[in-house]
Amino acid sequence: THFGFENVPISEKESKVRNVFENVAESYDVMNDLMSGGLHRYWKDELLSMTGVGPICQALRSNTLDKGEFSILDVAGGTGDVAFRFLEAAGCPERAKSSGKDPINVTVCDINPEMLKVGERRARTRYGNAVLDQSQTLTFKEGNAQYLPFEDNSFDLYTIAFGLRNVTDVDMALRDALRVLKPGGRFLCLEFSHVTNPAFAAVYDAYSFNVIPAVGEMVANDRDSYQYLVESIRKFCNQDELKSRLDKAGFTNTKYTNMTQGIVAVHEGWKP
Ligand code: SAM
Repeated sequence: THFGFENVPISEKESKVRNVFENVAESYDVMNDLMSGGLHRYWKDELLSMTGVGPICQALRSNTLDKGEFSILDVAGGTGDVAFRFLEAAGCPERAKSSGKDPINVTVCDINPEMLKVGERRARTRYGNAVLDQSQTLTFKEGNAQYLPFEDNSFDLYTIAFGLRNVTDVDMALRDALRVLKPGGRFLCLEFSHVTNPAFAAVYDAYSFNVIPAVGEMVANDRDSYQYLVESIRKFCNQDELKSRLDKAGFTNTKYTNMTQGIVAVHEGWKP
């Protein structure tokens, strides 16, 4: 296995990506809202509903699902947006007050300690310390998607939102996702993709190449990081290519769902 992230050398792309997210960590959440016009919240809500975590937790709580805790790994989890949706769907914040046991555990893994720091601070402000310290329902762990610091067959669900395109070796990250999932576990990736309608693509290009770097400069005083983000979106593979890379990595029943004309897509697959 690739266990033991600490000993792995960091490639040039990884250190560049690390710098980008170090620079943007504090302004990241505001910028997300500004640049996507709030759409990223809708996309993440859709991702949550596709995971089925809400109904799964209900079934676990009413004992209609015969299973222990449902364990979730959110890779490139940054400041915790996706993880917080899982906690809320599972009713964890309410249960923390009554010190009941949670039906899920969520691990946020990210290569960048600055993003994780912001995430942990947000979690403590939102939910209090119990969710992190006593119940350990939520944990933050530094790690690279290519060499995840977790044992084989550890998780029921693996999610990665707006993270895969930043990874140096996407195929390696997909193989490592498969490794850490339990047999029967599910992989879901929310990522920028390719707009399907050419007329809309022209508008979208104009917006992203002109508006986003300018807003990045104005709000975060950092044009280059936002320029990088736009370019990384354009360079990333399209819907069908990513689907076949999932197949190649060994996932089964792979498919994708476009949202907002293909600005983003959710890819999914299962570990046999
Ligand atoms: N998932 C969060 C969200 O949707 O708001 C954060 C997405 S942010 C655009 C991308 C994140 O990927 C950053 O926090 C960055 O540090 C992380 N990242 C980049 N390369 C990574 C890698 N190789 N392994 C793990 N995380 C990585």
